[in-house]
Amino acid sequence: MADTALMTIPGLSDPVPAARDITPREDGRIDLLGLPRPRIRELFAAAGLDDKAAKLRAKQVFHWLYHRGVTDFEAMTDIAKTMRPWLAERFVIGRPEIVEAQHSVDGTRKWLLRTADGHDYEMVFIPDETRGTLCVSSQVGCTLNCTFCHTGTMKLVRNLTPGEIVGQVMLARDALGEWPKGTMISDADMIDEDDEAGHYTADGRLLTNIVMMGMGEPLYNFDHVRDALTLVMDGDGLALSKRRITLSTSGVIPMMERCGQEIGVNLAVSLHGVRKEVRDELVPLNKKYGIEELLQACADYPGASNARRITFEYVMIDGKNDSDDDARELVRLLKAYNLPAKVNLIPFNPWPGSGYECSKPDRIRAFSNIVFEGGISAPVRTPRGRDIDAACGQLKTAAEKKSRAERDREAAKAALD
Ligand code: SAH
Ligand code: SF4
Repeated sequence: MADTALMTIPGLSDPVPAARDITPREDGRIDLLGLPRPRIRELFAAAGLDDKAAKLRAKQVFHWLYHRGVTDFEAMTDIAKTMRPWLAERFVIGRPEIVEAQHSVDGTRKWLLRTADGHDYEMVFIPDETRGTLCVSSQVGCTLNCTFCHTGTMKLVRNLTPGEIVGQVMLARDALGEWPKGTMISDADMIDEDDEAGHYTADGRLLTNIVMMGMGEPLYNFDHVRDALTLVMDGDGLALSKRRITLSTSGVIPMMERCGQEIGVNLAVSLHGVRKEVRDELVPLNKKYGIEELLQACADYPGASNARRITFEYVMIDGKNDSDDDARELVRLLKAYNLPAKVNLIPFNPWPGSGYECSKPDRIRAFSNIVFEGGISAPVRTPRGRDIDAACGQLKTAAEKKSRAERDREAAKAALD
């Protein structure tokens, strides 16, 4: 059983149980997965190493753990032979448990994962000709209830820990057999974060990009997402450039500036509607943080530029948000805020009980053309992995399957109680 502590999620009044950075294990050993260098060093010192040894061992173990994907201390060849069992008696390097792995006919892969305290969550790998994208979850469930999203029908179970988040990327590298070989890099070779040379590059790799677009709202689990992505971006960690990482938010305005400053990854915003009534329905968070405020926060996003444009995700729902007028209003708004923007049109992926249908292909094309003519790129995202429920908005673990009708009945009942 994992230890949980009550933690407040910014912007929400309900405290939500969130696991601590270290999940106690029955065998008393400490799992290092997800911990940063200074924390590992502290733990080594607390276990009895002197300062100098703790620092050196933390640096070595960090490299093996995050850069090389090693889970067995015996394989850490630059650590003295006698030291390895000492480490193994006190520490482990874990991975999220894989409950099920599925393969789509189109090459998309989905993994159902389980936390140590028994909660299920999912990650999806989407390969195409030029890149491979891992779609990573930040929470089990979601506190927000976007009406078109299957994850939104789950209640939030808890935030994922940094280890459970970075663990998804590490599992994907395990599964794809993609840990770099080679020698340990020294401090002098530490890679400048803006310099792609020496970074983990697309050459011959399957996993080249990460999107925080799995289950959950990453900006409601800001600290853990930041800590996990810091390990992913560390030159001696997973060494993936921040330019290859995109965080998607439904519009948690108070956390957007910190996201730019403290993480610095590309931003995607789930817009989905350009009129208050429509966005209020689709993304109820809009009642708290409205469209205009949201676009202003995007205009202020640190690091956004024409070279690093903000992606606006727009799910195409038949008769709801897909008219020519909507497309023109979208262009007007993005221009009014002078946003370096691109629009990603996502055909709505149906799920049982959603009550919505996907826009017709002609409608999507017409919408896309209007936005293009307005000078903004608006590609249509090809749905991937629909056959294994891995497509956008289809992620939902078995734990809490409830249809829209069931939810509506429950809501009506709750209102009467
Ligand atoms: N909570 C964050 C990130 C996870 S959702 C957010 O909302 O941005 C990732 C993307 O999938 C969002 O753009 C979301 O709007 C989209 N999505 C959700 N349900 C969908 C569905 N049924 N069909 C298509 N896209 C969907
Ligand atoms: Fe949560 Fe994003 Fe789904 Fe909305 S779209 S319910 S914010 S996961």
